[in-house]
Amino acid sequence: TLGAAWAVAWTRRTAQVVVEHREELIELDRQIGDGDHGENLARGFTAVLAKLDALDAEPEDVGAVLKLVATTLMSTVGGAAGPLYGTAYLRAAKVTALPALDSAAVVALLEAGLEGIVVRGKANPGEKTMVDAWTPAVEAAVAAADAGASPAGVLAAAAEAARGGAEATTPLVATKGRASYLGERSAGHQDPGATSTALILDAAATTAA
Ligand code: ADP
Ligand code: MG
Ligand code: MG
Repeated sequence: TLGAAWAVAWTRRTAQVVVEHREELIELDRQIGDGDHGENLARGFTAVLAKLDALDAEPEDVGAVLKLVATTLMSTVGGAAGPLYGTAYLRAAKVTALPALDSAAVVALLEAGLEGIVVRGKANPGEKTMVDAWTPAVEAAVAAADAGASPAGVLAAAAEAARGGAEATTPLVATKGRASYLGERSAGHQDPGATSTALILDAAATTAA
């Protein structure tokens, strides 16, 4: 079942993959931004790991873990991604104060995350941001849950759609965030934030399977 232990495993796996992909995310951000996205996330999730290691009791539920991630990212990651992911995790935490997530709760988690990013960053789909990974992920999650998929199946569908969404940012012209300063020259590069979203959701699916 997807309870607090899964949320911890997801978070630990996320820290591992963002550190593993640090250089790749830096390189993507160097093409259309300021080259710090990999560093920002590696620093943020490394701080999250330290917080998890320092806990003296097991987290009560999924929401408690996601809230810890949110507050840590908000206080340790500057730039655009810290507040955006921080708000996503905070919103997701609010709908996951549950001992275990069923398929509908997984959908609610993802919907709340996307909502947090949109509230914070005001980006629409197609503006070459992490919203372009989250939006198809939520759509795929809803479809999978409607078709009767298990919670792990819902996450697998979301992760696959997020990866496709991230790849589909390559031809887009950025109209939000730092990449928008490049205008048409932002086309031809995959968005770093959409790429990290795909990694985060892949970690969620991998640890649920
Ligand atoms: P910064 O641009 O401040 O250096 P990061 O490099 O950590 O911050 O994050 C950049 C990523 O943030 C982009 O690739 C994009 O996906 C995302 N982003 C930027 N602005 C927005 C926004 N308004 N809404 C959603 N995502 C955004
Ligand atoms: Mg950057
Ligand atoms: Mg920056």
